[in-house]
Formats: sequence, structure tokens, C-alpha cells
Amino acid sequence: MTSKKPLWDHDAHSLHDLFCEGAASAEEIVTSHLERIRSADSSVGAFLYVDEAGALEEARRQDRWSAVERRERPLAGVPVALKDNIVAQGMPTTAGSKILGEFRSPYDATVVVKLKQAGAMIVGKTNLDEFAMGSSTEHSALAETRNPWDVSRVPGGSSGGSAAAVAAQMVPLALGSDTGGSIRQPASYCGIVGMKPTYGRVSRYGLIAFASSLDQIGPMTRSIRDARLLYEVIKGADAHDSTALALGEERTVSQGPWRIGVPREYFGEGMEAGVRQVTEAALERLRSMGHELVEISLPHTPYAIAAYYLIAPAEASSNLSRYDGVRYGMRAEGRDLVTMYEKTRDEGFGAEVKRRILLGTHALSAGYYDAYYLTAQKVRTLIRQDFDYAFREVDFIVTPTTPDVAFRRGERDDDPIKMYLGDVYTVTANLAGIPGLSIPAGLADGLPVGLQWLAPRLGDLSLFDAAATLETQLEPMVWPMGVDE
Ligand code: GLN
Repeated sequence: MTSKKPLWDHDAHSLHDLFCEGAASAEEIVTSHLERIRSADSSVGAFLYVDEAGALEEARRQDRWSAVERRERPLAGVPVALKDNIVAQGMPTTAGSKILGEFRSPYDATVVVKLKQAGAMIVGKTNLDEFAMGSSTEHSALAETRNPWDVSRVPGGSSGGSAAAVAAQMVPLALGSDTGGSIRQPASYCGIVGMKPTYGRVSRYGLIAFASSLDQIGPMTRSIRDARLLYEVIKGADAHDSTALALGEERTVSQGPWRIGVPREYFGEGMEAGVRQVTEAALERLRSMGHELVEISLPHTPYAIAAYYLIAPAEASSNLSRYDGVRYGMRAEGRDLVTMYEKTRDEGFGAEVKRRILLGTHALSAGYYDAYYLTAQKVRTLIRQDFDYAFREVDFIVTPTTPDVAFRRGERDDDPIKMYLGDVYTVTANLAGIPGLSIPAGLADGLPVGLQWLAPRLGDLSLFDAAATLETQLEPMVWPMGVDE
């Protein structure tokens, strides 16, 4: 049966089992995925860098492992891709920008150390909006990524390369980063599972900083069970990141029935009819499974986008000051030091990054700090409190992940505000520090729609468990570039 399907058509659990049972060698698994990348990526453009030799060498090393050594490592035999703002020793890291030039990392990000210990085979780095700023991957200075469901559309962003790579079955697992929705939104647009952990659950060491109080690395996968597996591998405390929480009790919930909060503010205008339909059908399904749907209010939601687009650029303007032509990558020639700085940053950064640096610097300047940055921080506290109150009443909150389906490439090029408004359902989880999971819930006009599950801080595992009960009730997800069996 399953032996008929190509190895690239398996999820991570299945590949790991095949490898442990000796039914497939790691070399066969990697080779199958590399071939898939060669055939599919010319139309998708998910990868910025593929490490064929490195992945094959690792596979051959793993093929010498005993059955016990394989079983000990939960990702043995499983290919993984990294969003290219996560560093891996010896591999290029671009963050989708020209400014990093030929930079190669001298060290592994903590998540990469953990992946390697778990036996993952890293096949390459995926495209992203420059410095993870964007919602379409169109702001990458280096490559264009297309949505495997419809190549005239964007894959979402900023982790669009990772989402497209998983959706086109080039890798079963990928890591993304999520500052305001960059894992969940592309997962939604590409019909895959994407999860942003509780702030601090996963180390940010080796993640190129965008907005440090919001950034989290998380899994992007074909199934919820794979997302849980990858999450379990990457989470945990880290001496290199003081914001990474020590492993502690995680919230669990009973088998249910649960009280599921449906926030009024997330179902207002601006949501496409097809998204509304799929979301309501999923909610109805939850009700028929015996759960109680409770209408709740998160009253400060209307201010979330404004607060996010002050706080994130403010932190970015500070984080990006390190790209000065001296420390990393490219340098433009200038007649003196200041000219060299200016020219490097002018030539090295794209328009969206410059826009954010300007916005952020302005919001932090004397005279404006109180009016903008401080006010945004106060709003952030109110948004966090909205969730605290809501979670006294309900076990989970369920919303659409995005108000729309994948839009056409170029459509929002000259309308940054429209691009920003699309983040309305995702930025709140980052502002509040809570975990969020997007699962494919169905199709609207042939394009995937994501359903977002939110839980209180440290409710990460309960999120996977709860959403998995719905996953089995939904139409099984199909793959846009899949094989007919
Ligand atoms: N789309 C949002 C932004 O442009 C979120 C990006 C992210 O999560 N990295 O900032």
C-alpha cells in the first residue's frame, strides 16, 4: 500500500518509522526529497539554498546507526528546511536581504543544535520577506516564491518559503518565525499546519532578530502530529537566551467538552465570504462534537494593528542598527566612515525595511516616544488583559487565521497599509505572548483557509491536542502538487 507512494509523499512520523524499521534508508529519503525539490521548486521558488552534499553526507552517517540509535532520535531520517533567518553553521544566511552578502554562520542556532541532536537532516534554507518584514514573501530581495496552489498567488509571509516547501511536499517539516503572524498566515495560505509557541518557549538564539519581544520560532508541517513532534524537539530553556523559559508544567486540558471562545471582534467586516463560510462550518463541527461555543469579546482588538506596527518597527530599528558594513556581509565603498555606513544601508536594505526603520526611529525619538511607543505599550498590556479575562471563561479561542485567502502576486505592492491590515487576527497572539496554531480547515474557491486556535500562555501542548480532535473530523487535506495514488 503505502510502499507505493514516493518517499516525499510521507509525513515526518511516517518517514521516521520507515527509517527505523529499515524499510527506507536515510539516503533514499533524502534523495527522494532532493529530487522533489529539483522538479517542484522551479515553479515554486521556496528555497534560497539547498545543501545537497551536506544532507546526503548526514543521511549516509545515519544509515550506519543501529535500530536503537534511530529510535532514540525522534527526527532520525527526517528532512527539515530552515527559514533563512535561522543560522546553521557553515550555511549561508541571508534573511532575504542583500545586506548580509556572503555571510556564513560560524555557529548553529539553538533550534538547529536541537534538530541535529534529534536526528533531523537539514536540506536547506527557505525564502522570506527581508528580515521577516512582510506578509507575502514579495519583500525578499533575493527570490520570488509562489503559492503551490496557484502560482499566480503569494504563499503568504514572511515564512512563505517554508510554507510553500511543505505544501509542495519538498520537505515534511520546516521551521518558520512568527513576529506578527509569519508562521500562521503562510500556513493558512498554503494549506498546512503552522504554530507560534508561547513567547519564551523556544530559544531565539541564532534567529536573526526582528522584534525581540514578539519573535518566536515554530513548526510548519503537513499534520498536527508532526507539528507537535517538531515543537517538542525545539522547545526548552537555553543559557544563550534569557527569555527562553525553563521547562516547566505545561497546561493541559481535559478531554472536553470544552468551552470555546469565539471573539466577536474577529468576525466583523473585512472578512471574505469564503473564509467566513469555512470558519463557520468548522465551528459548527466543534459544536456537533459536543463543545460549547461561547461568544466572547476582546475589546482592544481594533487597536492591535496600530500597536503592533509601532512596537515591531521600534524594536526593528534598534535591532537592525548592527548592519553597518563593518560587522557583517556587504559593504559599499564611501569616502569616509559615515558615507560608507549610509551607502551600505541605502544599497543593502529594501524599501519595506527602510520604511520600518524610519517608522521605528520616529516612534522612539524624544518628543514622540510618549505619544507613540509608550501608548502602544499600554495598548499591548490591554490586549494581553483581554486574553487573560477571556481565558477565565473559556479553554480555547478559535478564529480565522486571516481575513482572506492567498492574494495575487503584486496586488498589494503599492499598498503597505492593506498588507498590514491582513495581520489583524494574528498580531494579537504575539502582543499577548500566547501560543497560536493554524490548521487547514477547508477550501474557498479552491484555495486553503486556515483556522486559528489560541490558548493561554504555556497551553502549547493543549493546543495541539485539542486541534487534533477537529483535524480528524475535517475533510483530509489534499496536496496541491500531489501525486494521484
Ligand atoms: N506581517 C507581519 C509584518 O510584516 C508579521 C511578520 C512576522 O511575523 N515576521 O510585520
